[in-house]
Amino acid sequence: MELTYPKEAQDFAEQIRAFVRAELPAAIKQKVLFHKRISRDEQVFWQRKLVEHGYATPGWSKEHGGPGWDALQRHVYDDVMSEEAAPPAIPFGESMIAPVLFAVGTPEQKAHYLPKIRTLEYFFCQGFSEPGAGSDLASLKTRAIDKGDHWEVNGQKTWTSLAQYANMIFCLVRTDTEAKLQEGITMLVFPMDLPGITVRPIITIDGGHSVNETFFDNVKVPKFGQIGEPNKGWTYAKLLLGHERTSIARIGQSKRELRHLKALASEQESDGTPLMEQQAFREKVAALEIELAALEITALRIISTAGKGHSPGVEANLLKIKGSEIQQRLTEMMLEAVGPYGLPFDTNKGLGETNLPPIGPEEAASLGPNYLMTRVVSIYGGSNEIQRNIIAKSLGL
Ligand SMILES: Cc1cc2nc3c(=O)[nH]c(=O)nc-3n(C[C@H](O)[C@H](O)[C@H](O)COP(=O)(O)OP(=O)(O)OC[C@H]3O[C@@H](n4cnc5c(N)ncnc54)[C@H](O)[C@@H]3O)c2cc1C
Repeated sequence: MELTYPKEAQDFAEQIRAFVRAELPAAIKQKVLFHKRISRDEQVFWQRKLVEHGYATPGWSKEHGGPGWDALQRHVYDDVMSEEAAPPAIPFGESMIAPVLFAVGTPEQKAHYLPKIRTLEYFFCQGFSEPGAGSDLASLKTRAIDKGDHWEVNGQKTWTSLAQYANMIFCLVRTDTEAKLQEGITMLVFPMDLPGITVRPIITIDGGHSVNETFFDNVKVPKFGQIGEPNKGWTYAKLLLGHERTSIARIGQSKRELRHLKALASEQESDGTPLMEQQAFREKVAALEIELAALEITALRIISTAGKGHSPGVEANLLKIKGSEIQQRLTEMMLEAVGPYGLPFDTNKGLGETNLPPIGPEEAASLGPNYLMTRVVSIYGGSNEIQRNIIAKSLGL
């Protein structure tokens, strides 16, 4: 079955495609295609290009400074951006804390934060997880005490993605130790350069640095950074996580990776025949392609029923599970496709460059780290086991 968009959506796709082809530097595109990390400067550069052309923050309404696109336009935009290997947007500001600000931010907070999130002048990270509070997030212990004009924060967050790049953080902190766990949590937003904040790197299994431990030692957070009401942070976090899970499905990215897998498998031979022409491998590729098409149709079905301002519900959990499984499967098959060429391990993939000549396909040395790092997609944003629990509960099981 061939899915086609309505004429206006096709024209819109061509408009976005022409923009990316004209403006995205080849070096950044190559990094995305070859699974290398994008530097902070490159990310900011690309975001500013998007702002300049009116393509930034695709999910925002005009009222909040976005383009005011409908759900189909946003889907087409994501699809084309991924297909053209544009750097994925950093979700923390624009897709996570911004929707909470739309819902419960004061007019002053919206006026202050939103324009800076849009340009990435405020580069956010997410301070939810702690040692001992991941899946069981409500048991978080980072403490904030009301000191009149500010909150005093003490404690530790962990797995803080991109904290080394971030100049802002949104955090869940415990503000009432007597109440039920979920009822004593407040959401705070504050700069990362406040005195008392320490960030330490965690090097992951791929040899890269994307996550950190973040410590707070008597950090004085101005009350301006309190989002919504005190002790209502859990409700806001649920809203935010719904948006996180929808974006983690990465359907457009998987479509690009599938094409990449096919190209890679067409170049690799085994017993004189390209891998892509061998029955067993073709069957695996076909099975994956069918799953991806089913996921895309499911996403489109959700989009077609979602009204403006609709907040994603249990369907976001479903997209997250399936989307992450497909992403992982793709990295496994790419590694399988290059066989022994996948053994060199480019631990330097952090920012990518090495002057050693590649062995086998150019990107082979980054496929191993990419395979390992993609294990995270079934863990972060709430592990897939937790997503299944949520779906089961919604079905009354
Ligand atoms: C690379 C990476 C980046 C991340 N980035 C961020 C970030 O930027 N900010 C942030 O706040 N957090 C971040 N996280 C944290 C992430 O959200 C947590 O790792 C995740 O929620 C799981 O929590 P945990 O690691 O404490 O594992 P645990 O909660 O200890 O879970 C361990 C295992 O037990 C299973 N399990 C736990 N409870 C149940 C249950 N009730 N039923 C069935 N199975 C269960 C889990 O599925 C998992 O397999 C990141 C994590 C990673 C790996």
